[in-house]
Amino acid sequence: MATKENHSDALVLFGASGDLAYKKIFPSLERLEIAGELDMPVIGVASSSWTVEKMRKRVADSVAHHGQNKDKKAVGRLVKRVDYISGDYRDEKTFSELTQRLDKCGHPLFYLAIPPSLFATVVEGLHKSKLSTTGSVVVEKPFGRDLGSALELDKTLLEVFPEDRVYRIDHYLGKEPVQNLLYFRFANTILEPLWNRSYVESIQITMAESFGVEDRGAFYDDVGAIRDVVQNHMLQELSILAMEPPASSDSSSMRDEKAKLMASIRPLEPQNLVRGQYEGYRKIDGVKPNSTRETFAALRLEIGNWRWAGVPIFIRAGKKLAVDAQEILVRLHRPPHDIFSEPLASNSNHVRFRLGPDRVEIAIGARVKQPGEIMAGNRVELEAASDPSADEPPYERLIGDALKGDQELFARSDAVRAAWKVVDPALAAETPVYSYEPGSWGPSESHSMTAAFDGWHDPEGSSKGGK
Ligand code: NDP
Repeated sequence: MATKENHSDALVLFGASGDLAYKKIFPSLERLEIAGELDMPVIGVASSSWTVEKMRKRVADSVAHHGQNKDKKAVGRLVKRVDYISGDYRDEKTFSELTQRLDKCGHPLFYLAIPPSLFATVVEGLHKSKLSTTGSVVVEKPFGRDLGSALELDKTLLEVFPEDRVYRIDHYLGKEPVQNLLYFRFANTILEPLWNRSYVESIQITMAESFGVEDRGAFYDDVGAIRDVVQNHMLQELSILAMEPPASSDSSSMRDEKAKLMASIRPLEPQNLVRGQYEGYRKIDGVKPNSTRETFAALRLEIGNWRWAGVPIFIRAGKKLAVDAQEILVRLHRPPHDIFSEPLASNSNHVRFRLGPDRVEIAIGARVKQPGEIMAGNRVELEAASDPSADEPPYERLIGDALKGDQELFARSDAVRAAWKVVDPALAAETPVYSYEPGSWGPSESHSMTAAFDGWHDPEGSSKGGK
């Protein structure tokens, strides 16, 4: 829980000269500055031999290109509070310099915006210099590349920082539509009676991107769709969708329920996974010419608990797909008995959550009668929509929360391990990878997976439309 005592009084940014800092972190600091929530020094640490002035110019540049850059006074305040240490993380001197600069700070927050291969080096540097004693640490995804490496990384971190001072960023959890999903579930009573195996026939979660991996070939070829989005974003989303109601909104109640749900997802069996790769992927810079890395994954999961036993959960994620859309469709069973002459379709009722990127909607699918004598109808949706452009960007929310000591939106160690346990068997199995045409809905081998459950729900693209 956030209290005055665990508020940070300095932000130390390892990786201050890197891409993430430039595109996401400094623009978020600008927003925090405008909101009056950044009353502390910000110290960048990286190996580039920059002066403080050069670092400050980089911050101003980042805000100009990726931030709001409207409130010149706030930008000026932000730039002025930035300091810089040029040093190698493998060098003890870097940490003694940091110790001096943090002289007056009791609770620094160390943000590791650095390649995962350097996490252990920096954590060890913080430990040896005793800076870890009262500090907290933010770790960027990816949190391991399988269960074994995640456990190792956890061991490194937790030997130095207690869990209540570790913030594992999954920026998806900070997104407004994901928060709205949580709110809608538990601020209303309408879903709860339906939210179980008696009424829910199947769940589908889609994360479709129409673009490829052009400028990130080498990174992506080492990771693939399952590690990039399924193990983290999509399973986190599933845990919010399917968890038991928490006793309160405090961060440990929420995280307990998410972790419990994650631990009850059955391990993914290789026969329930179809991997795909879009045509042309192997020609991208940085991608191996014979790569078998998946740019698409379709999978079927089950949750082993009383509420969800037997309800199939279909997850589909991929690059170069037909549209850009993040959507959840919860299909309800058809009415048990037909009383009208019209045979009712099996997929008449659903709850649909559109989580972006272009629009945010919550919709309930139902049938209504057509005017006229016959008792026949049409499918309609009752819909609540909001404009995502007004949303607080996830990095601003997450950095703000970490500075306040609020862990709710950060992945806890047990939930991360449980998520790796779900995908690990399928990752290890090296299943075939099928090619698919860019602009399609993935390889045809994935199409039959949902055949017994009314097929895949293909979300609409960015132009507003139907179901
Ligand atoms: P970059 O490669 O752009 O930046 C790496 C940073 O680490 C640079 O500031 C670099 O300093 C510093 N660095 C590397 N080695 C050393 C060293 N031995 N001593 C001192 N400084 C060092 O990485 P990104 O910013 O892209 O990514 C950072 C983390 O965030 C990664 O874990 C990544 O997976 C994650 N991430 C990134 C996203 C993005 O959009 N970029 C999105 C989501 C997560 P210098 O250049 O001065 O040498």
